[in-house]
Amino acid sequence: MREKLVAGNWKMNGNLKESVSLLNALVTDISTIGSNTSYAVCVPYPYLAVAQSTLKNTTIKWGAQNVSQHESGAFTGEVSAIMLNDFECTYVIVGHSERRMLFGESNQVVAEKYLAAQKAGLVPILCVGETLEQRDSDITEQVIYEQLNTVMTVAGVDSFRNAVIAYEPVWAIGTGKTATPQQAQDIHHFIRQSIVKQNAEVASGLTILYGGSVKANNAAELFAMPDIDGGLIGGASLIAEEFIAICSAIS
Ligand code: 13P
Repeated sequence: MREKLVAGNWKMNGNLKESVSLLNALVTDISTIGSNTSYAVCVPYPYLAVAQSTLKNTTIKWGAQNVSQHESGAFTGEVSAIMLNDFECTYVIVGHSERRMLFGESNQVVAEKYLAAQKAGLVPILCVGETLEQRDSDITEQVIYEQLNTVMTVAGVDSFRNAVIAYEPVWAIGTGKTATPQQAQDIHHFIRQSIVKQNAEVASGLTILYGGSVKANNAAELFAMPDIDGGLIGGASLIAEEFIAICSAIS
């Protein structure tokens, strides 16, 4: 049985006071839902310390939203995987479409970040997904295969034993336009089959999340699909009640 996971991606939102209050609300409310799913929040770097102190000894894990591909050195403004370890992060998101598009991260750079995270013992949440233009041009599978294949080339297929993939269609992020459960399932199935070709056992154990306008009112139908193992939640993860409702929608 593969692990199910609901992870929040706070992006660049909130301040210290709001972050503390959201973390506290999550701790209180998460205890009301019992399940074998894992829960996590990926917070802005400056709030990792409060995430660590608030979430330690709870069932909620925490992580970051980006990491440098380099170990250390003259890389002003960057944060290494070793530094994330100091805050006992479990996860780090790599290759989010906002990083790929707004900060020019190529498939190669994303694969190097993924490898750097794993080398430090972090579990990378690798984001893949197509733009609307790519979907309309019928190259969705090709785009996603290239994103995955670069990681398999750099880190090897076995690396997926300690990683999570998030399928996030760019056209569904922050737009209120969710992929239909069947559209999402089709791509999740494609992702798993792409890995089956290299190693069936690794593919069947791999947690694949859906992200893109997941809300309390659409989470259950998405999570019910056979290859959807949870969600990566943006906007709705900033509201404790809504995030908890999404967490409760997985069985
Ligand atoms: P929204 O849930 O706000 O659409 O964002 C999804 C996302 O980008 C999660 O990483």
